[in-house]
Amino acid sequence: MKLTISIWCWLVVHVVFGQTLYLHCGAVLNCIADRAELEQTIVVEAGKIMGVLDGYVQTPEGVEVVDLKDMTVMPGFMDMHVHIEGQSSPKRYEEGFRMNDADVALKATIYCKKTLMAGFTTVRDLGGSGVNVSLRNAINRGFIDGPRIYTSEKSIATTGGHADPTNGVRKDLMKDPGPKEGVINSVQDARKAVRQRYKNGADVIKITATGGVLSVAKDGMGPQFTVEEVSAIVAAADDYGFVTAAHAHGVEGMKRAVLGGIHSIEHGTFMNDEIITLMKERGTYYVPTISAGRFVFEKAKSNPQFFPAIIRLKALAIGPQIQETFTKAYKAGVKIAFGTDSGVSPHGDNAKEFAYMVEAGMSPYDAIKSATVAASDLLRVSDRFGTLEATKMADIVGVKGDPLEDITLLQHIDFVMKGGHIYKMK
Ligand SMILES: [Zn+2]
Repeated sequence: MKLTISIWCWLVVHVVFGQTLYLHCGAVLNCIADRAELEQTIVVEAGKIMGVLDGYVQTPEGVEVVDLKDMTVMPGFMDMHVHIEGQSSPKRYEEGFRMNDADVALKATIYCKKTLMAGFTTVRDLGGSGVNVSLRNAINRGFIDGPRIYTSEKSIATTGGHADPTNGVRKDLMKDPGPKEGVINSVQDARKAVRQRYKNGADVIKITATGGVLSVAKDGMGPQFTVEEVSAIVAAADDYGFVTAAHAHGVEGMKRAVLGGIHSIEHGTFMNDEIITLMKERGTYYVPTISAGRFVFEKAKSNPQFFPAIIRLKALAIGPQIQETFTKAYKAGVKIAFGTDSGVSPHGDNAKEFAYMVEAGMSPYDAIKSATVAASDLLRVSDRFGTLEATKMADIVGVKGDPLEDITLLQHIDFVMKGGHIYKMK
């Protein structure tokens, strides 16, 4: 009788709440303790972690075991800077004139899958056309495989600035995009642009505080927003609980973004001591994107046809600097969250960033924490993600071997679980 009841209870849990799994893990980096815990069992039920137990715990009857005894298991990685809709190539600029939203979306399903299979169970999309909102929804509804997406929808720029969608096109095609299209020129516009993003389904807000490398415009570094405009964006974003991010290469634009209250500086290429002090005072996160700097520099150097000439020059000047800035900011104690700018570099290569961070002086475990604990803190989702412990979502990745010994192992992830569902098992 007792047995019948327990089987019945298990069936109810299984059918109503989803499968129960015991993961037998050779080593666990739970991102709470400062070392690996050996021989652990993670209990997963209804998409969540129910507990992490010492030893290889025997399963109750009927419960499935997942054998990860030869793996190091970690929280699913979180990339705070991707552009999931596209990927740079010499064809990228003319594609903008040919591809409709449906074309963009269908192609991007490949990028979503690659990202998830690389062990990235959550990404923050920092700007696209708005197709990124539909991709997020399709993933959440289970139509396609991909990471959890927190999207900014369309980046907010100023006229002619990085992320003005009409830069570099013939005058009669330029039109005059406004806050609805994500282009602002006043405090009023700033509020409208944020509210429009809310209406369009965004989760976070992104601004382009300085010029950028990949826009068809001369300036890659100068300031493009006033402090008042940044403050208005942050205040409007606060009303909706949106975290804000600012793309910034040059010092003046970066300073205005930090003073305006932005939550993270992206790239931060020419960050100086004054900016570092300001960021530390205000708790502003730095999302380095070394991958983007390395990728554009290498392509600009090896293939003169890869980017238009106006972009190539900026790529050569800005690209190599980011990794050095990372070292300086890390040593100074700026809060760092993991981000790659994938979409500039290829989707699925996100984990190369770990190796670049370690190469630049960060410890392997700190690099992993930047993509788990720190990223979930920046995104304000630490209650659900970022560590392996009871009540957290079962977003779990594993790799054969010890990534603390060889960080490049993370470029070949062997196990991916998101929300308790296994997507990859080698
Ligand atoms: Zn970007």
